[in-house]
Amino acid sequence: MKIKLTLSLLPSILVVFITCADAFQAKILPSEIRPGDVFSIKITGIKTAGPPAAVLKNKQFNFNSCGEGCFIALGAVDVETRPGIYRIKLHLGKKMLNLKLVVRRINFPTLFLTLPEDKVTLSPEDMKRVEREAERLKTIWKTASDRLWEGSFMLPLENDISTIFGTKRIINRKKISIHKGTDMRGKEGEEVKASNRGRVVLAEELFFGGNTIILDHGHGIFTIYMHLSAFNVKPEDVVSRGEIVGFVGSTGRSSGPHLHFGVKVTETSADPVSLVKLKL
Ligand SMILES: [Zn+2]
Repeated sequence: MKIKLTLSLLPSILVVFITCADAFQAKILPSEIRPGDVFSIKITGIKTAGPPAAVLKNKQFNFNSCGEGCFIALGAVDVETRPGIYRIKLHLGKKMLNLKLVVRRINFPTLFLTLPEDKVTLSPEDMKRVEREAERLKTIWKTASDRLWEGSFMLPLENDISTIFGTKRIINRKKISIHKGTDMRGKEGEEVKASNRGRVVLAEELFFGGNTIILDHGHGIFTIYMHLSAFNVKPEDVVSRGEIVGFVGSTGRSSGPHLHFGVKVTETSADPVSLVKLKL
């Protein structure tokens, strides 16, 4: 009997490993991603070995059970990731194999904005507040908690997207900021829904985000809802997928009512649309 057989199939990259004791399949979906995208690794047919372990650029994946002999993990690559082929080291029992992650090139749109100078240059007090809030958020992204998400993620509103993730904004011809979220159109007071089951880890006013809600879905996955007019939840509440968490507004640095919807996957800001598209 052959010890090892590796197959690559299109459209998804599928690796089949067969040994006398065990046969399993490892699949990365989607087969090609863009910088800032979320992807899944699904391993099926595990008979004897325990849960798999995988690493990409020193970051560990958190595998969840998806049925008998099935494990799934979510990962994301940073928006600044250079196009190319990356190696994910997968360990299963005593076996180790490399999975290929294909990151293709994308030209993100550029937006030129002119704003009053006092909206661009912050006062020393505001600067301190922004730094304090950034530190606090960093601590939140590092929280290790149990999995709460169940099934696919959803968009919090059914409206159109106004500014996509990754848009490069050049403010007053000098300051460059990359948009690390998805802006969705919305009317003041419109209901904003939880993208998936999760625990409220923040529900308060931030300098840039205004009234902000952060949901911890477990295993390093968070969703962020900004510029809300009001909250419908409080910290520590556990909400189910589709539950109303707040209402559209224009609080914080916002030029009109809309929702800034963000996603963090293992401390990486990722495109929420890519997360929502995954069939989980
Ligand atoms: Zn935004």
